[in-house]
Amino acid sequence: PVRTRFAPSPTGYLHLGGARTALFSWAYARRFGGTFILRIEDTDLERSTPEAVQAIIDGMQWLGLSHDEGPFYQMKRMARYREVVAEMLLQGTAYHCYSSPEEVEAMRERQRAAGEKPRYDGTWRPERGKTLPAIPEGRKPVVRFRNPLDGDVTWDDVVKGPITISNRELDDLVIARPDGTPTYNFCVVVDDWDMKITHVIRGDDHVNNTPRQINILKALGGTLPQYGHVPMILGADGEKLSKRHGAVSVMDYPAQGFLPEAMLNYLARLGWSHGDEEIFSMEQFCGWFDLDHLSKSPAQFNPEKLAWLNNHYIKLADNERLAALARPLLEKEGAQFDGAPPLAQTIALLKERANTVNELATAVQMFYRQPAPDAALVAQHITDAIKPALQDFAARCATVEWNKAALGAMIKEVLAAHTLKMPLLAMPLRLIVAGQLQTPAIDAVLELFGRDVVLARLQNYLS
Ligand code: GLU
Repeated sequence: PVRTRFAPSPTGYLHLGGARTALFSWAYARRFGGTFILRIEDTDLERSTPEAVQAIIDGMQWLGLSHDEGPFYQMKRMARYREVVAEMLLQGTAYHCYSSPEEVEAMRERQRAAGEKPRYDGTWRPERGKTLPAIPEGRKPVVRFRNPLDGDVTWDDVVKGPITISNRELDDLVIARPDGTPTYNFCVVVDDWDMKITHVIRGDDHVNNTPRQINILKALGGTLPQYGHVPMILGADGEKLSKRHGAVSVMDYPAQGFLPEAMLNYLARLGWSHGDEEIFSMEQFCGWFDLDHLSKSPAQFNPEKLAWLNNHYIKLADNERLAALARPLLEKEGAQFDGAPPLAQTIALLKERANTVNELATAVQMFYRQPAPDAALVAQHITDAIKPALQDFAARCATVEWNKAALGAMIKEVLAAHTLKMPLLAMPLRLIVAGQLQTPAIDAVLELFGRDVVLARLQNYLS
């Protein structure tokens, strides 16, 4: 059975790259009826914070990437890591090393000076027939993994293809510090082993860890998972995605009015493809997602495409749902909802052109405030010459059936009676009723404002 995991270090927000690897791991488990595990790699005590844990969980929840097991916290698994270290010491796949940090540094200096790759020289590595140095008084040892000296580590990376690293390139990795705390790579291996992970999908910044992790896992007698290292996400300028490129935290996106389905669809297409399909649901994605179509080259983040997808999903979204998202934004702007048309209706009229919920909230504001049109525009559009037509329009408003079609027909009659072209009447009406010149079709706008509001606002200009 497929078992995947997302294993973030809680040292900051959930960024787009992390969300994308989480999405891939999640979708792969969904595709094969497997299990998706959330594991919080919080052993870096100086950089991990509870706020960052919360930010990761919030981000996953907003995207709907629900885990089947976890969250597991590495800090709560310390006893288990110590147990595995002890087992490895017993079995001889790890050993105590009493070299001091100064000695290790001096060793590296010598190697660098000799043009060699710095690595632990094996002073404390037990070998048959070798006598180890005397243990220095009072010194606490680190535990090192006994990495094979010869041969290669090879794996067929599902993204990058076959990778081979010579064991001579690899150090005898420290797996436990003098105080007994386990090190990063070791915890990852024990977790992937204990959690029976079958597919490790992660960022390719971890590709150098993989041969070390494979060797340790082999020493433990574990079954190797498949590894897939996904290239990073670049900004439009080809640089690694960073704050300079705008929002990189997933949770900045709901704040800007993005819908999770747009973000998911966008991230799914970032470095993975299914023919020419650009727009698809998560259900479709989970039916298609495979590791063969992950791209080897870095994906470029394209904010315009994300905005385009968001507009697509806003158009599809239920108006009541959009209203619930837009309402707090409007309230913050002091919107008045009493006597105004229902938010879901004004949203239905204006969502076509909105790239974000925030743009949509701004667009519908005209329905929820007292109009205060620009004086120069009033002088330009509401001239004495047009007043008789406005008067006529107001009179007919009192009796016309209040729907878009009847209003449209009535406006045409007024235009004909006064031999006017549409804008000469529609622009003043927009200024008077909505307080601005940019609105959707005037008949639709008038219908939504309602007879009472339209008549009351007209009176201010005709008396
Ligand atoms: N904790 C690592 C990170 O946040 C991921 C480790 C892994 O996926 O193996 O980058």
